[in-house]
Amino acid sequence: MSSEELPKQYEPNLVEEKWLSVWKDEASYFDPASSKPQFIIDTPPPYPTGNFHIGNGFNWCYIDFIARYKRMRGYNVMFPQGWDCHGLPTEVKVEETHNITKNDVSREEFRRMCRELTLGNIEKMRATMRRCGFSIDWSNEYITMLPEYYAKTQLSFLRMFAKGDIYQSEHPVNYCTRCETAIAFAEVSYEERTTKLNYFDFDGIEIATSRPELLAACVAVAVHPEDKRYTEITGSKLMVPLFGHDVPVIVDEAVDPEFGSGAVMICTFGDKQDVYWWKTHNLDLRKAIDQQGIMTSLAGPYADLSSTECRTKILADMQEQGILNRQEALEQRVGTCWRCKTPIEILSERQWFVKVHNDDILAAADKISWTPEYMKARLENWASQMEWDWCISRQRIFATPIPVWVCDTCGEIILPAEDELPIDPTVDTPSAPCPKCGGTAFTGESDVLDTWMDSSISVLNVTGWDGSKTPDLFPAQIRPQGHDIIRTWAFYTILRAGALTGSHPWEQILVNGMVLGDDGFKMSKSRGNIISPEEVLLEHGADAFRQWSASGAATGSDIVFSWNDVIAASRFQTKMWNIARFVLMHLEKQNEVVESATALADRWLLVRLSETVQIVTEAMDAYQFDRAVRAIREFARETFADNYIELVKGRLYDKEGSPDSALYALSVTLDALCRMLAPIAPFFAEEIFSNMNKGSVHEAPWVAFEYVDEDALVQGELLAEVVAEVRRYKHDKKMALNAPLGEVVVYTPFDIDDANDASAALNATVIWKNERPALEEVVSDVYFNLAVIGPTLRGAAKEFMAAVRELSEEELKNPPTEINVTGEMIAVPEDAFSPVYSYQVAGETVDVLTLREDVILTIQNNA
Ligand SMILES: [Zn+2]
Ligand SMILES: [Zn+2]
Repeated sequence: MSSEELPKQYEPNLVEEKWLSVWKDEASYFDPASSKPQFIIDTPPPYPTGNFHIGNGFNWCYIDFIARYKRMRGYNVMFPQGWDCHGLPTEVKVEETHNITKNDVSREEFRRMCRELTLGNIEKMRATMRRCGFSIDWSNEYITMLPEYYAKTQLSFLRMFAKGDIYQSEHPVNYCTRCETAIAFAEVSYEERTTKLNYFDFDGIEIATSRPELLAACVAVAVHPEDKRYTEITGSKLMVPLFGHDVPVIVDEAVDPEFGSGAVMICTFGDKQDVYWWKTHNLDLRKAIDQQGIMTSLAGPYADLSSTECRTKILADMQEQGILNRQEALEQRVGTCWRCKTPIEILSERQWFVKVHNDDILAAADKISWTPEYMKARLENWASQMEWDWCISRQRIFATPIPVWVCDTCGEIILPAEDELPIDPTVDTPSAPCPKCGGTAFTGESDVLDTWMDSSISVLNVTGWDGSKTPDLFPAQIRPQGHDIIRTWAFYTILRAGALTGSHPWEQILVNGMVLGDDGFKMSKSRGNIISPEEVLLEHGADAFRQWSASGAATGSDIVFSWNDVIAASRFQTKMWNIARFVLMHLEKQNEVVESATALADRWLLVRLSETVQIVTEAMDAYQFDRAVRAIREFARETFADNYIELVKGRLYDKEGSPDSALYALSVTLDALCRMLAPIAPFFAEEIFSNMNKGSVHEAPWVAFEYVDEDALVQGELLAEVVAEVRRYKHDKKMALNAPLGEVVVYTPFDIDDANDASAALNATVIWKNERPALEEVVSDVYFNLAVIGPTLRGAAKEFMAAVRELSEEELKNPPTEINVTGEMIAVPEDAFSPVYSYQVAGETVDVLTLREDVILTIQNNA
């Protein structure tokens, strides 16, 4: 296309749709046969909600910047895409959509409905990802609900079970009674709330509790060993009010004598502390609340009430019996289900657990390079406070089945052979009789695996793990993810990679922030501050969205969505488009291709370009995308467009002179800008690069331009400053920028040859002199201070001023005390006037601009 045909306006959506139809998926495939160094990205598998939200978009922009940049740097890049399918939200959605509950249809039918919904949602999200221009390797897509993937999840289960890293046990776990499933410690979120602390009489001593509904589950009363108030009753038994069973009074250092009355009741289980005491003191287990949050028969008259109803009734009964002494407000952090926000219960149930070896996880974290570095502390803090093993069993349906049967006769745990995987133990049966008793009746495990069990082997999956050995491609080079899932996805992946390979999963981890609404708050339906990527794409295109992602915040920081930043990105594209059109138009006129720059301005531009390339390369290497974009924009707008192009227009349009040096500089610079923009604004960079007839910028290597020229840097900077300063002068004098100006002499410490660029740019005769100016200071005018003259001289003011003008230069500098005004001597008021100086060079009056201490400009303004 000739540059005349280039549209004046850049239409992002037209251009982007065009390139989407041209680009081939294959161009982004990882090549297993390649000899290039590998760069494997352990991309997050998003939850297939059908809505690729702006937080995803932001995260994926970072990933795509890295993938595209690394390809240009000569790496064999794998940017796979997974889908973390299983889980409760899908089950709930299916129940809503089909207006059923999970128990209304068979397990298999329910799973089929979940799979169908999930596939539809994945399709929608893929479309948004493609529209954003993400260079995903679709040949390495994985879907965790498909047999080829969950066979690996099950294999990893068998391997860890064989090593003793997975075990089954009855142990207290966090439990959501609404979702009716155990959840991991990492899935408990905490909320502040105000509740009541109830002081009541407990068989003669006072106890304060915020959970009176747990009274039926009370198994002991504990006091501090040095609390004198309770020395006498220590070791004795107390009777639990309303329920009548006896519990021991025990002592424990962990009791806070200052809290409440200093005596606490231990229930199974009110909180983690109860679990600790229960274990340490080997106390009874009393299950008063069931998995639906309903009081059990243990609660006697309160059985079958919800725990909330039970609480109300117990308090009323205490009141009636006169044992409720008082109530006071209590601020509390309550653990809630991360999905549905229901306060969690701690229930002791038979569950499956993964052993957590904190020291191994911390050691592996040390081998990984963290960006930003401070995010590592979040993992360390989490690991160091982990007291419980990871509960991996869930009492749900749509998830990877736990590949286990139990022999009905002898209770032996039966496992499938590895080559039988995947299996569903609720459908399939063991291939051989029980090895222990020969029995042939089995019960399949109906619990399923925590979905993090699927996603925490994503890195093993993409590097080709099949259980035979540690894959050649392992570990991956980088894990990009949000800081909200450090304690889950990052933690579990490190744990699982360690257990299954003995090594750390990735060389680096890049942690990105969250996207906040333009009001600074987390995006939520209730605040009405949700922005979808589609909204941004529709109006401004993918490149503007991508630039916003890059420029909005330092890596790791949360980013506030800002339409202004998107618009700024759009404007930058408009500006760059105008620059590119200008350059392309001139490149067509090139007669002879030269491979070097000779003129000062051209050399200066190349030095500045070289500096910019260095900054951008360093920033991209350090994943500082905001810094990269800033450097590119500043260089393109200020150095290239505002300074350089204005300087060289003269040479470019001059029919007699040679534009070749300038054309070389323009071409090198536009080429480099395309390559630097390619990872961040891939469509825009491609459009310009292809118009330079250079093929696809995405198949081109990263810019490797280095140019050192100390003189050109110093003198070119001065040239640009001189032009800017004289333009400002013209502006101040209300002259048109292209209006002719007389002679400008620049006195500098250098010998400068600017190839007449300054003269052409300023429409003046600019002469560079390596000398100091011979300036003569003369009084050229008088300044009258009318605020003094008016009031003191009144009617005589006009005559006074006329008389002053007649004074000699010497008298103006040192005024006499009185002067002759039309024959009368009049006292000269203080501050009535002062001389105005001007400068002359060789008798000609000039304006003087002092640029720096050693650079002075004289302007002989003929206008
Ligand atoms: Zn829940
Ligand atoms: Zn058996």
